[in-house]
Amino acid sequence: MSANLINGNEISKAVNAETAAEVAEIVAKYGIRPALAVILVGEDPASQVYVSRKDKKCAELGIRSEKIVLPADTSEAELLAIIAKLNADPSIHGILVQSPVPKQIDEQSVVLAIDPAKDVDCFHPANVGRMMLGDFSGFLPCTPWGVTVLLERSGIITRGRNAVVLGRSNIVGKPMAAMLAAKAPFGDATVTVCHSHTRDLTAITLQADIIVAALGIPRFLKGDQVKEGAVVIDVGINRIPDPTAKNGCRLVGDVDFDSVAEKASLITPVPGGVGPMTIAMLMKNTLRACRAALKTA
Ligand code: NDP
Repeated sequence: MSANLINGNEISKAVNAETAAEVAEIVAKYGIRPALAVILVGEDPASQVYVSRKDKKCAELGIRSEKIVLPADTSEAELLAIIAKLNADPSIHGILVQSPVPKQIDEQSVVLAIDPAKDVDCFHPANVGRMMLGDFSGFLPCTPWGVTVLLERSGIITRGRNAVVLGRSNIVGKPMAAMLAAKAPFGDATVTVCHSHTRDLTAITLQADIIVAALGIPRFLKGDQVKEGAVVIDVGINRIPDPTAKNGCRLVGDVDFDSVAEKASLITPVPGGVGPMTIAMLMKNTLRACRAALKTA
């Protein structure tokens, strides 16, 4: 079998068009523009790219973006003071601090400092807890949400299927597993979570109808670990050296695309798979934040 591609660029385009239409409707009806504050501390080149992509996407969809760039030696107290100001500003609906932050700043303190009503990354325990309890009407974690939308819009039924999530991070693996197992249209799967202590991982992945790979290991999952006809979603973004590339490197996922595509029925490419969905769902969360603020205003 040679897999068909799940085109994240196309699907995210459709999601973004829906968001842009809703933004326009809010502006017309209430005279209020959804607004996202993005804070970048330091000069990490990958973070700079991610922040400028978010900024650009906001502009495309009619969302106001406030980009705040702080020096690498910013103290935790200084950052928390800026977050407190944004929390109190009613014209800002979403707040995001680009990860990773410099080592003098405790990431968890930052997560806890953001008003849960503005936590568009869905990292705050209040939002994570709400989602875990089965309420999907608030913020949802952007990358796992994006994966569920990719699956739904590709016509993949998760109910009753065996899903395997490779990785158990708070950002991807854990919420991904929770969403796939949830009593919800995008869930109802039987989910197994694998991590670095998993024994005989291949025996587990060979049982999977759906595999979501989020390990951060370039081309980890190989074709001989995948059942014929499985659906494979590659969350990984890894930069590997490539002397033939202009900048000397290129992006690969956590899935060995060529060998896995021989076995899978559907597969996401890297780039152009999950990546654009993460930003699209961040925009949706910003819209949700604005709608919720309008309700409570
Ligand atoms: P983390 O490093 O936080 O987590 C990696 C997970 O993989 C851990 O749970 C770890 O297990 C597990 N793992 C590591 N080695 C193995 C192994 N040999 N076998 C099984 N499990 C293993 O990564 P993230 O979740 O933050 O990110 C994962 C990938 O997704 C990265 O490539 C990242 O760049 C990408 N990413 C992409 C996004 C997108 O928008 N497309 C968004 C976010 C991330 P343990 O817990 O035991 O250490």
